[in-house]
Amino acid sequence: MTTVQTFTFNPFQENTYVLYDETGEAVIIDPGCVEKDEYEELYGFIEKNGLKPVAIINTHAHIDHVLGVAAVKRKYNIPFALHQIDEPYLRAVKTYASNYGFYQFDEPEIDRYLTEGEIVKFGTTELEVIFVPGHAPGHVAFVSHADHFVIGGDVLFYMSIGRSDLPGGNHEILINSIRTKMFTLPDDYKVYAGHMHATTIGFEKKNNPFFK
Ligand SMILES: [Zn+2]
Ligand SMILES: [Zn+2]
Repeated sequence: MTTVQTFTFNPFQENTYVLYDETGEAVIIDPGCVEKDEYEELYGFIEKNGLKPVAIINTHAHIDHVLGVAAVKRKYNIPFALHQIDEPYLRAVKTYASNYGFYQFDEPEIDRYLTEGEIVKFGTTELEVIFVPGHAPGHVAFVSHADHFVIGGDVLFYMSIGRSDLPGGNHEILINSIRTKMFTLPDDYKVYAGHMHATTIGFEKKNNPFFK
C-alpha cells in the first residue's frame, strides 16, 4: 500500500508530496521547499521514517513546484523527471523568480522525461502517468489504481480548477483534460492537489462550479 504524506511549502502554499510504501522506497513529487525549516521538515520526515527516496517526479514546472528540486536532487543524488513540454517553462523560472523575491533560483537539470501512459515504479508501487495540459502545457498527473488516488498538481482543486492565465495556459484545454482524463477515473479516487486540501473525483463531478 502506498502512503501519501503532504507538506505545504513556500509563500505560494504549494503542496509537496512524499509517496512511499512498505519497502521504504519513496518518490518526492513537486518539492517546493525553499526555507531552511521547510527542508528540515521534509528531510526529517524522510529520516524519521527510514525512507529511501529514489526519484523526484514533477506534475509541472511552475516556480512554486520546483523551488526545492535542485537541492533535494543533490541531497539524495536522485534523478528528476518532468514532461518534455514543460522544459522551457522550467528554464523560464530564472527569468521571473526575482519578481517573487527569489533572487537565486537553483535551476535543476532534468534527467529524464515523463511520458503519457508510462508507469512510474518504486518499491511495490505503480503510478500511471496521465497527460493533463491546460494549466501548464506539459502538465501530468500520477494515478495509483491500487490505492485509488491521483496526485493531480494544479489541474483540479476542491471546488475549483487551475489557472489558465499563466504562460502556456489554455482554459478550454484544461477543461477538456479534466473531463476526459480526470472525470473518467472512478468516483472514489482521492485527488491530492497542488494547493489546498484533497478532494475526490466523485465530489468534484457533482459539485465543481466549473462543470455545472
Ligand atoms: Zn502551477
Ligand atoms: Zn502551483
